[in-house]
Amino acid sequence: TAQPIITFHDGHSIPQVGLGVWQTPQDIAAPTVRTAIAAGYRHIDTASGYDNEEGVGEGIRSSGLDRKDIFVTTKLRNTDQGYDNTLRAFDGSLKKLGSEYVDLYLIHWPSPHRGLYTETWKAFARIREEGRARSIGVSNFNPEHLERIIGETGVVPVINQIELHPDFQQKAAQEVHKKLGIATESWSPLGQGKFISNADIGEIAKKHQKTPAQVIIRWHIDTGLVVIPKSVTPARIEENFQVFDFKLDADDVAAIAKLDSAGARMGPDPMTATF
Ligand code: NAD
Repeated sequence: TAQPIITFHDGHSIPQVGLGVWQTPQDIAAPTVRTAIAAGYRHIDTASGYDNEEGVGEGIRSSGLDRKDIFVTTKLRNTDQGYDNTLRAFDGSLKKLGSEYVDLYLIHWPSPHRGLYTETWKAFARIREEGRARSIGVSNFNPEHLERIIGETGVVPVINQIELHPDFQQKAAQEVHKKLGIATESWSPLGQGKFISNADIGEIAKKHQKTPAQVIIRWHIDTGLVVIPKSVTPARIEENFQVFDFKLDADDVAAIAKLDSAGARMGPDPMTATF
């Protein structure tokens, strides 16, 4: 399969479609990752907070592919923010993954009430200089958080992973990222599954003889986003990767644009989240 990639401003690139493993228990993470790699995925999105880094690492080691052929993202747990804590936590993640590096390390949330994300970002810059994270980025950062870390360190994140799905399209954030040279990555890209039964998506799916999940994932790809759908069900993992043999047309794009509605956030608001 010819799978699309997005190239970061630091020269590294990320496969546009990856497997999300939030809420994938440790013991099934390894077989789930193996299934995904066998289906063609080359990008796995985990986090320290998902408590499955060991399983992800084991899945990659037992996949039959080399470590260098898989793009691995992990994220710093909020309670590990701060310069020294970040360095320690990163060592812990590498150990759990059983790897000498990650492809992408993200600050999971700005967690503004802690007041530590800038110090944390300085530790990220060091980890990248050491080559232990090939690229560094953030997640759930609002424009003001981005401006702050860039202003204080001069180091621009390669990507911001944010909640983004057809009824929460985050166009303003996408514009800010574009201006700053930051890629946008969609979490909960299927709206945690809620678009599978959406009538408009269903119509488009029927027209292309694809499934609703495939149409939504294709929409993220065609919009230029990195997309990390989650499933632990082998048939769905495979289905979610069969998205490179069709394209949405102008009518489809217009219909999905209409689904955007402010305030359709499903997860916490990064400004007010207190975890
Ligand atoms: P998602 O939008 O990917 O939806 C996943 C759910 O959709 C599944 O549990 C299943 O119920 C359903 N589904 C998946 N494929 C399907 C198919 N083919 N047919 C029918 N139903 C299907 O939700 P998500 O897990 O919240 O988000 C994806 C990934 O994003 C996570 O696993 C995680 O890696 C990442 N994430 C990051 C953050 C963050 O703060 N950075 C937050 C949430 C999620």
